[in-house]
Amino acid sequence: MSKPVAIITGAGKGIGRATAIELASRGYDLVLTARTQSDLDETIKQAGAGVAIPADVSRLEDVERVVVETSKRFGRIDALVNNAGYAPVRSIAQMTSDEWRQVIDTNLSATFYFCRAVFPFMQQGGGGAIVNISSLSSRDPFMGLGAYGAAKAGINVLSLALAREGEPHNIAAYTVAPGAVETGMFRQLLTKDQYPPSKTLEPADVARVIAQCICGDLKHSAGEVIYVHKRLK
Ligand code: NAP
Repeated sequence: MSKPVAIITGAGKGIGRATAIELASRGYDLVLTARTQSDLDETIKQAGAGVAIPADVSRLEDVERVVVETSKRFGRIDALVNNAGYAPVRSIAQMTSDEWRQVIDTNLSATFYFCRAVFPFMQQGGGGAIVNISSLSSRDPFMGLGAYGAAKAGINVLSLALAREGEPHNIAAYTVAPGAVETGMFRQLLTKDQYPPSKTLEPADVARVIAQCICGDLKHSAGEVIYVHKRLK
C-alpha cells in the first residue's frame, strides 16, 4: 500500500509548514505549494518529506497544474489543506479594487479552485478530507481586515456546502478558524508590544487540529467551523 497523500498550500512558512511537519509524522506523503521555492525546500528539510510544486494559488491554471502533477506522481489524493492566505491591512474606504480582488482570489477563489480540482480524484479514490483555513476574522475582523474577513466568511460557507456535497462520496470538509498565531503574517499586523506572544498560539497548535480533522480524530461534524485560539486567563 502506498502512503496517503496530502496537498498543503501556503506550505513555505507558518501554519502550512507546521502542518507539513505534523502530517509527515503521521505517515503522509506531501505535495507542498507556495510561490517561494526556497521556503518550500526548508519545509521539506524540516518535515523530512514532501515534494515542492511552486505555484500562485490565486491563478486557476497554477492550481490545476498542482493537482494534475500530484495525481500523475502519486496516483492518489487523500487530503487537501487550503492554507495560503493574504491579509493586507486597509480600510474599506482606502482599499483599491485590485487589492480587493487579490484578497478574494488568494483566500476564497483559490480554496474553491482547489476543492473543485481535487474532488473527482478523491471521489475516484473512495473519499478524502479537505481542511480550509479561515480565521476568527470571519466573524470579528480587526480594524482594516474587512476584505480578508469577508473572504474568510466565504470560506466558512463554501466548506459547509462542500461537506454536504462530499458526504455521499466519503469526502469530509472542515473549516479551521484560528485566532492569533505566532507567524510572519500575524506579526505584519501587530507588533509584540501591541499583542504579546503570551497571547498567541504556535503554528504547531493549529497544525495538530488540522491533522486531527484529516485523520478523523475529532468528534466535530464535517462542515463545522472549528475555532482555535488561546485560552486567555
Ligand atoms: P504565513 O506565515 O505568512 O504563510 C503564508 C504562506 O502562504 C506562505 O508560505 C506564502 O508563501 C503562502 N502564500 C501567500 N500567498 C500565496 C499565493 N498567492 N500563492 C501561493 N502561496 C501563497 O501565514 P500564516 O499565518 O501561517 O497563515 C496561514 C493561514 O492561516 C492563512 O490562510 C491565514 O489567513 C490563516 N490565519 C492566520 C492567523 C495568524 O494569526 N497567523 C490567524 C487566522 C488565520 P509565498 O509568499 O512564498 O507564496
